[in-house]
Order: sequence, then structure tokens, then C-alpha cells
Amino acid sequence: MLLGAIADDFTGATDLCSMLVRGGMRTVQLIGVPGPDDVPPDADAVVVALKSRTAPVGQAVSESLAALEWLRKAGARQFFFKYCSTFDSTDEGNIGPIADALIGALGCGFALACPAFPTNARTVYQGHLFVGGMLLNESGMEHHPLTPMKDANLVRVLSRQTDGTVGLVPFSTVEQGAVAIRRTLTGLKEQGRRYAIVDAVSDAHLMAIGEAAEHHALITGGSGVAMGLPANFRRAGLLQAAGDPSVLPPMGGHAAVLAGSCSRATLMQLGYARDHVPVFEIDVMANADPAALAEGALAWVEGKLGDTPVVIAASAPPEKVAAVQARFGRDAAGALIEDAMARIAAGLVERGVRRMVVAGGETSGAAVARLGVRSLRIGPEIDPGVPWTHAEGSGPAVRMALKSGNFGGTDFFLKAFQV
Ligand code: ADP
Repeated sequence: MLLGAIADDFTGATDLCSMLVRGGMRTVQLIGVPGPDDVPPDADAVVVALKSRTAPVGQAVSESLAALEWLRKAGARQFFFKYCSTFDSTDEGNIGPIADALIGALGCGFALACPAFPTNARTVYQGHLFVGGMLLNESGMEHHPLTPMKDANLVRVLSRQTDGTVGLVPFSTVEQGAVAIRRTLTGLKEQGRRYAIVDAVSDAHLMAIGEAAEHHALITGGSGVAMGLPANFRRAGLLQAAGDPSVLPPMGGHAAVLAGSCSRATLMQLGYARDHVPVFEIDVMANADPAALAEGALAWVEGKLGDTPVVIAASAPPEKVAAVQARFGRDAAGALIEDAMARIAAGLVERGVRRMVVAGGETSGAAVARLGVRSLRIGPEIDPGVPWTHAEGSGPAVRMALKSGNFGGTDFFLKAFQV
């Protein structure tokens, strides 16, 4: 294991995994902190997916430390703390406290922090984070329900979350390349800074930052800054070119799609799917019992399973969602539908489905938990940020694509089964 990463949420972990696979590293995502007896997977990079972004800070720190400890024992040579490219956090944390704890445990005293991901229009200039053409605090993120980002100056934001001090590697230095960046990072560390926010507005910058951090014990950032890391391992002769790292074991079995996301992209994908394959809509207004909802969907599936995917959807447009939430309450409605979808996922696997797309972050989490999935080996990308994965755990192995609600093109639910 070359790289051991800790991600503060589930879909963010997959995003990082995809980046590493693109760089030629065989990558496995683990769900939650592995147990002491869990055998490390045969992979160049392992990403432990936690739910530490919005967890209470004490729990976020202790889980991150436990993940670090396991990755160290498994032999990882370098560590990565992955957070969102919009630096999702509050003044209480959890980015600062987790990074402080990891730096303390590793005894490295210093880490760079770079959430930039120019491909997704997240750039950092003079320490300020932009989303597209907007400063972070004018991008809509200032209204986020859990982690409202009201300040775009990341030096200030991170300073509020740590008792260490935060410096900056500005654009003018980053533009000069890896040697200049490395020199500045070393200088900041020697001055006693614990962190350096690093500017980046292009992939070339990310590659140079990665190269500059070749010997850092810990790197923190979005998935973008991981772009340069595979090249370091390759240059050091540690990463052998052993064929395409995204090749997964062959998998037959029936095909199905479960959609629990109500995001715009998913609704478009459902509209497209309706014209091409059988689609079943779950109606919580007609029946609010998750077991009965699952039974109804699984009865409908009878005789339809095969190579052509069946689609089962709870997804609904905003006015319908509002009506459901008015009746049951927002959280209860979400939990009820997630429970039904998770039962359906299990029922489908019992009926021989082995290739499954799940749309929606929370919905994916519920399905994966119900199926007892512990690890996802990352395969080929269907659309940017959504790879097929080989899911293993307590049940039979399943090919799964876990799609964050707004990801994927209109034909995603059909295209997935052609990749
Ligand atoms: P996304 O990735 O788009 O945010 P999630 O799965 O994370 O999707 O979140 C969608 C939430 O909406 C889930 O909790 C799901 O159970 C809930 N949901 C799905 N369909 C409906 C519906 N018809 N009415 C109300 N809530 C719904």
C-alpha cells in the first residue's frame, strides 16, 4: 500500500478513488474504520470513507485517528486527508481538528491544505476559494444547511479551526513550479507554521504541488491535489505499470437501477430511462410502510430481470417532495424511503441482481449498509466522478455504481450497463 487516505464523506471518497485510478493506482474504498483483523486489500491506494464531515468533532477526530492507525499498520507510506473542494466545515471543525490530530499522530508538524479542483471550477487564488466565478461565500455555499461557508479566505477559515498557524503559498510561487513550491513550504514549516494554504487555478498547478509534497507524510485537500501523487510513486519506482488499474473481475447477473435522489440530474435521467426500460415508481403517499413498499416493488420486478435494467425510483419533483415532507416531516420521509430502498436493494440481490446503479448519496449509504458492503474496488468511470465498483462484504459480490444525485449525463442509467 503506497497511499493511505481518510475521506470525510462517502461520495468524496469515491471521487478521490477515481482520481487515483486515473493516475494508474489500483484503489480500494473501505466503508468505515476497518477492524483490527481486516486484511488490507491488494491495492496501491486505500481510501477509508468516514462520515466525519458533520459528525460531532470528538467522534470525527477519534475515527480519523483509528483509520490512520489501521492504514499505518497496513504499511501505507504516505497519508492523505480528503475533504470537500468547497472546504465544508464550521469554526468548530471538522477539518482543522482532524488535520491537527493526524499531524500530531504522525509527528510531522506540518501539512499543506489545498481544496482546489479546477476541472470542477474550484480554484484557490491568494488563499481565496472560488466556485466558478464566485467567491465561496457568494456561491450559494453560504446557505449550506450544515456547513455554511461565509468566508472565502481559507487562511482565516482554517486559522479559526486550529491552535496552529496558517501560511500561504501564493499563486506567484505556485506558477514557478515544484521546486519553488517545495522551498516555500519548507520555509513556512521552519517558521513554525502548521499549515500552508496553497493556491492552484490549473491542473498544472496541482501536478506541481503534488510533486513538491513528494516527501510529506500528510497531504490534506480535495481530490484535485491527489492528481500529482501517482507520478511521485512512479518516479520512485514504487508504482509498477501492471496494466489497467480499473479492470474489475468479470460479473454476470441481472441489472437494476435504484433511484432515491430527487436532484435535477437524476430526474432527467429517470425521464430518459422511462422511454427505454421498465420503470417502477414508489409512492409513499399511498403506503408509508417500508416493508410493504419494498414488497410491492419486488413483486413488480418478477419476470422482468435480465440484461436490460429495471428501474425502481422514489425520486420525485420538488412539489411532490414538499407534499411528502409536509405529511411525514423531512427527516422521517427521507429515512422511511431510504429504508424501503435498502430493503429493495437486498431483495434484488436475493433475486440474482449483480449489477446495480444507486442514485443518491444517502440512498447509496443506506443500500451499501443493508447489503453489508465493506469494500469497493474502483473500476472504470461511467461518467466523471462515477465509477463502477466491485463491492464485497458479508453478502455476494455485486458490481455497484453509486451516483451522487447531480452527477452523470441524461442517459446514465442505460449507459452504465454498456461500460
Ligand atoms: P442526493 O445525492 O441527490 O442528495 P440522496 O439520496 O442523498 O440524494 O438524498 C435524497 C433524499 O430524499 C433521501 O433521503 C431520500 O430518501 C429522499 N427522498 C427520495 N424520494 C423522495 C420523495 N419522493 N419524497 C421525499 N423524500 C424523498
